[in-house]
Amino acid sequence: ASSRDFHPEDTIIKTKHSMIGGKHFVFMAGPDAIESAAHVLEMGRAVKAAGATVLRGGAFKPRTSPYSFQGNGEAGLKAHRAAADALEMDMVTEILDTKDVDLVAEYTDIFQVGTRNMQNFALLKALGQKRKPVVLKRGMSATIDDLLNAAEYIVAGGNNQIILMERGIRTYDNKYTRNTIDVSAIPVLQSLTHFPVIADASHAAGVAKFVTPLALAAVAAGAQGLMTEIHDDPVHAFVDGAQALTPDQFVKLSQKVNGIRAVI
Ligand code: PEP
Repeated sequence: ASSRDFHPEDTIIKTKHSMIGGKHFVFMAGPDAIESAAHVLEMGRAVKAAGATVLRGGAFKPRTSPYSFQGNGEAGLKAHRAAADALEMDMVTEILDTKDVDLVAEYTDIFQVGTRNMQNFALLKALGQKRKPVVLKRGMSATIDDLLNAAEYIVAGGNNQIILMERGIRTYDNKYTRNTIDVSAIPVLQSLTHFPVIADASHAAGVAKFVTPLALAAVAAGAQGLMTEIHDDPVHAFVDGAQALTPDQFVKLSQKVNGIRAVI
């Protein structure tokens, strides 16, 4: 079960290149979408140099509009896997549909369930049957109990490797930021559950200039990791360029994160 009542110690998830949970801190970073093999490799090299051990990127993209770029599918998974292997990093990618669970499992080290699928119970049950970690992003309108119950759907199938993620929720104002990062969710979740709790300030902010301050707030609140989007040419990014940090900005963020972690 996800409750601390049944499992007082922090769960620590070990992947090939990362330790996630407890006192460990994990940087997951990379492009929003896998654009090409060369691009994901280049972005991976940049984030690894700044301390990331998990390379993110979407091959199946949950776009608000059906006419927007939907991702490169299996070709994207292949390019992502090749880059992660070449760089000795773990791979995390979003799974959108129950029918693709086996396909994505052939490539990825860590599944990602996005905010729009947090209560896709069929998908959660299918992931419960796998023995790979799952990053479960909080639904944009989900309460903390909704998130914990969603995690429970995965646990119920026997998969205990869950990483909870605060990625911003809908509040009154989405004019200046895309979502509102709920910093309070981080210590609250950590008091209720033994699973690692990490944050995505990129999707919370929606605007690159606010990503660093929000990420630092999450770290100060105790987040055990960050997921961050980067792009070397944000204006031409296939998806969500407005919120992407450049590789240089990511280096600065990671230095500031290390500074905060040294004093908390
Ligand atoms: C993502 O991380 O690529 C993503 C789509 O995030 P979210 O589900 O939080 O919107």
